[in-house]
Amino acid sequence: MNINLDINATWKIDEELWLYLHDTLEGALNPSSVHQGGQRARYLIEEAREDIKALVDAKDSRLIFTSGATEANNLMLRSAARVSPRPDFIVSAIEHPSLLECARRLAQEGARLTVVMPEPHGGYSLRDFLPYVGQDTTFISVMTANNENGDLLPIAELTSHAKSVSEQIFIHSDAVQAIGKVDFSFTASMLDGITISAHKIGGLMGCGALIVRGDAEILPAVFGGPQENRLRAGTENLAGIVAFGYAAKKRASEGTARREKMLRGREILLSALSEKISGLTLNQFAEKQLPNTLNLRIPGVRADDLVVALDLQQIYVSSAAACSSGKPLPSHVLLAYGLSEDEARNSIRISLDGSDSDEMLRDAALKIASVVEHMRGGTKTREIKSIEAGYVA
Ligand code: PMP
Repeated sequence: MNINLDINATWKIDEELWLYLHDTLEGALNPSSVHQGGQRARYLIEEAREDIKALVDAKDSRLIFTSGATEANNLMLRSAARVSPRPDFIVSAIEHPSLLECARRLAQEGARLTVVMPEPHGGYSLRDFLPYVGQDTTFISVMTANNENGDLLPIAELTSHAKSVSEQIFIHSDAVQAIGKVDFSFTASMLDGITISAHKIGGLMGCGALIVRGDAEILPAVFGGPQENRLRAGTENLAGIVAFGYAAKKRASEGTARREKMLRGREILLSALSEKISGLTLNQFAEKQLPNTLNLRIPGVRADDLVVALDLQQIYVSSAAACSSGKPLPSHVLLAYGLSEDEARNSIRISLDGSDSDEMLRDAALKIASVVEHMRGGTKTREIKSIEAGYVA
């Protein structure tokens, strides 16, 4: 049996979800159809919308279903660039590529863009953003939690500061990795918009949402039919949306129990691995972290090789380096934090969903340590000279 320690890439799907979909989708047809089959589908979509809004405490807000967080981030940024005559954006340097690459594209098309770096080897604090937030700023997007190392960013402080500089600044946060892992209230946050993704909370891939406060002006990026109040044309992903609603209800019903298990699992792994692997360093810089994520630097071991070696042991983790055109690339997140390319290439991400027993985790730690020992003994580090950044799912 495998042990899946790659939950930030995608959450495990529970068997009950398939049964739920099988039963619930019975008789549901195109949600735009007038007949009963259409009405059934429409009802299911609206029910899921309310369940997802309830999970993030966004009852009075608008939720626009998309094909995932990538599209929701693109919708948000493209809209923000078009509603303002002089778009002036601030984003953090550790955003997911779906946000960072879209922002860079908009900068090429004429938007002003400031990419804020953290203090080298320090987590983000309000101080990092202060010099850039001004009267000209129109839009800020800073993620709630980073997907690669689990750092939590100072969203509350940033939002309250930015609103004090100008009420007109639209503040968005990619909350994909925070939902279900830390307390989150959209209403209490003072944010104007958030992005979330179904498969990061136990739903299916290919479904996400942009949530914005009730009176926010959003312009569509996909044109066609009248779906989603004309903000996202195309027949809805009914199964994806129903599964998203199911996962939201499930996460809401768990309270903090699962998070406590995540935290316990994280501690078990960290202490076992630190004890057994010499020179192990935690690549986490913020004061507060997600309860389920470890990003570990293991000197002398290439993370992409380690991921493959662990896969053979049925242990799934991620490397902070991803392959593009055959060469492993270091993570843009770890580089932004000031790690060298070599350090970034020696870093793996472990992420948990709180479902593994203590015994399974201790066993996984033993196997990881033994693979590391073997690799340290047997292989020489390869010379790689790329400075492009890699992609971590
Ligand atoms: N933002 C973050 C922080 C993510 O972790 C991910 C997925 N890795 C995305 C956006 C993209 O989500 P999706 O797969 O739904 O497009």
